[in-house]
Amino acid sequence: MSFLEYAPAPESTALLNLQSEYGLFINGEFTAGSDPTFSTISPATEKHIATIASASTGDVDAAVAAARAAYDSTWSRLSGRDRGKYLFRIARLVQERARELAVAESLDNGKPIKESRDVDVPLVAAWFFYYAGWADKLDHAGLGANPRALGVAAQVIPWNFPLLMLAWKIAPALAAGNTVVLKPAETTPLTALLFAEIVQQAGLPAGVVNIITGAGATGRALVNHPDVNKVAFTGSTSVGREIARSLAGTPKKLTLELGGKGANIVFDDAPIDQAVEGIVRGIFFNQGHVCCAGSRLLVQENIHDEVVERLKVRMATLRVGDPLDKNTDVGAINSAEQLQRIRELSDIGDAEGAERWSPACELPSDGFWFAPTIFTNVATSSRIARDEIFGPVLSILTFRTPAEAIAKANNTPYGLSAGIWSDKGSKILAVADKLRAGVIWANTFNQFDPASPFGGYKESGYGREGGKQGLTAYLAPAAKATAAARIAPAVKAVSAAKAKSASAAKGGKK
Ligand code: NAP
Ligand code: MG
Repeated sequence: MSFLEYAPAPESTALLNLQSEYGLFINGEFTAGSDPTFSTISPATEKHIATIASASTGDVDAAVAAARAAYDSTWSRLSGRDRGKYLFRIARLVQERARELAVAESLDNGKPIKESRDVDVPLVAAWFFYYAGWADKLDHAGLGANPRALGVAAQVIPWNFPLLMLAWKIAPALAAGNTVVLKPAETTPLTALLFAEIVQQAGLPAGVVNIITGAGATGRALVNHPDVNKVAFTGSTSVGREIARSLAGTPKKLTLELGGKGANIVFDDAPIDQAVEGIVRGIFFNQGHVCCAGSRLLVQENIHDEVVERLKVRMATLRVGDPLDKNTDVGAINSAEQLQRIRELSDIGDAEGAERWSPACELPSDGFWFAPTIFTNVATSSRIARDEIFGPVLSILTFRTPAEAIAKANNTPYGLSAGIWSDKGSKILAVADKLRAGVIWANTFNQFDPASPFGGYKESGYGREGGKQGLTAYLAPAAKATAAARIAPAVKAVSAAKAKSASAAKGGKK
């Protein structure tokens, strides 16, 4: 008897109202870019979706000038309460257009609709709601009374969570009173452009949010623009390093969210079936295109075989294919280049003697695909244990004692995330305390919340996004009062006290 097959359950694209061509969103309007246009495609089919403008350095100048003018003339003069109203409006519009945004994201990026619909877009709305609430409470951000916005923020984001990364950047920046110019990644510009429509719908003053599309050169021109006060970058460690170098010595504030090679540590007292679910979520969520993925599984030696067997059984049920099908668990790899990188690193794993395994799965002929893969027998020194693969590939290593687990987990140039699976709370806390990672999940993995700060150690970058910490990345303490201004209130207080004692003396005479 064969198992019942799943019937296809494709999400319709009929509700998408896409333009055939998108310009740059500068000063509240779409305008043509000066550089040659490019095409954004669906990585699942390689079919063209829309023609996208490319911003030249002149266009970058115009976008930064629009952001500066909006900052000076309107945004920096609005009360926090009023800025908050705009952010709430954006959050509600994201919710209203949620289905459309989810479909567009899956189409352009290749991620399963189940994830864009249930994870990405709800988190985007949550991020705007959360920071909307902060806009009138900046005095409580931890920087003293009346903290100041920084001015114009240049923001460059990657392709793995296009709309969510946009929300992580734009929501705190606007709440803190900055204006922004944001560049999405070349392969996933679509939802940022739909977001520009939402900005128009929300009636945001022109120039507060500017979206400019283009390649790496556009990003470089933006972060190096002299009239930018803050740079926020999410992407690869190599580009992050280049940005840090070029900004050194300038007054620009910088936050970097870079790569990772997260350790997911499973102790022998963990509930194994739950841990297996967490391992799957840790590495196959979003095709493993996740900076905080649990891409290194550290499993206690005495349960290694059992965990690997159960993991294989679970992986055989993963459905790989059409991102728009509601049954799909693993979608398309985002680009031909990324697929090439995943293949190269996996081949190195083979060459270094690790053992590769994938479930039998038929991959579509068009588009970019890579079957969920695990490597066992991985040496600590192996490239696949050290380099970020950024794909659905898990490297499995073992350990015997908690001390060895900690040493192996920390043996990486990165330090973004880690997971710990154990029945014992005290063990979890003791191990977590010694891990050099920005985010540590206990008996879960890849959970995100706008109130929780996120960021890295070492080559995973610096600065935090999310929570109060994410807000202060866009703020400076109130300007120090000048000597004269400091003396003036003191003089006033003295004369007020004199007047008071004089009137008290008068009263005493009565
Ligand atoms: P990337 O090449 O660094 O690109 C990221 C963004 O920077 C893109 O918009 C890119 O434009 C732009 N860019 C490229 N060169 C630039 C330059 N010289 N100056 C300024 N901007 C430049 O990274 P990716 O391959 O798109 O993304 C994958 C990487 O991002 C992974 O390593 C992953 O770990 C990391 N990541 C980290 C986090 C985090 O929160 N820590 C989150 C997501 C991803 P183009 O798209 O046109 O090249
Ligand atoms: Mg695309």
